[in-house]
Amino acid sequence: MKHLIAVYGASGCGREVMPLARHSARAASGHDDTIELVFVDDGYACGEVNGHRLLTYAQFLAEPAGRRSATLAIANSNVRERLATQCVADGVEPFEVVAANACVLDSNAIGEGAILCGFTTVTSNVRIGRYFHANIYSSVAHDCVLGDFVTLAPSVKVNGNVVVEEHAYIGTGAIIKQGSPGNPLVIGKRAVIGMGAVVTKSVPAGATVVGNPARIRE
Ligand code: UDP
Repeated sequence: MKHLIAVYGASGCGREVMPLARHSARAASGHDDTIELVFVDDGYACGEVNGHRLLTYAQFLAEPAGRRSATLAIANSNVRERLATQCVADGVEPFEVVAANACVLDSNAIGEGAILCGFTTVTSNVRIGRYFHANIYSSVAHDCVLGDFVTLAPSVKVNGNVVVEEHAYIGTGAIIKQGSPGNPLVIGKRAVIGMGAVVTKSVPAGATVVGNPARIRE
């Protein structure tokens, strides 16, 4: 039975995720599976990217395969949500990608479709929703709770006892101060944390904060 695995998105994020997906596919494969990894992108002419076939989504669905899965390698969380819904409707399974050197410690619950890039860490007793992206060198510490479609850019540090609500985006190099048990620091739904921000207190839903200490950008 052929298992066709899509890296959905062939731009920057997708080309970084493909090598990790190859590793995860090898780790997940049964002996009887024939696996092919392809890029799927609706915005490029078909052809080949970094040694993998590039298909449109319609072509991906039309390919003969016993099983179809996809990892959504697109940083924009709204696009990820739309494509996740589309994939479910078409019987395309979520495919989790975890880099070989990602470090995931004890008693974590990570939702479907996550991408943990190289050198990322999730320590212990962390709960994470669906279609999480942890870009290179980002980390999430003990007792954090992250919602669906959260995105961590490279080198983000989320300290312990922090809540990050759904669709929040945390920019490169940002540092989030720890909360405490029963009194977490909360990054609200759809908040945006600017690059290099040092977040010392909770951020309201939908706000954009920048700087050190991070302040709301009007
Ligand atoms: N894309 C797609 N279908 C969609 C929306 C986006 O194939 O419905 C593709 C888009 O063509 C682009 C990629 O997703 O190639 C997103 O790349 P972008 O450079 O915007 O950001 P990245 O997530 O790679 O940083």
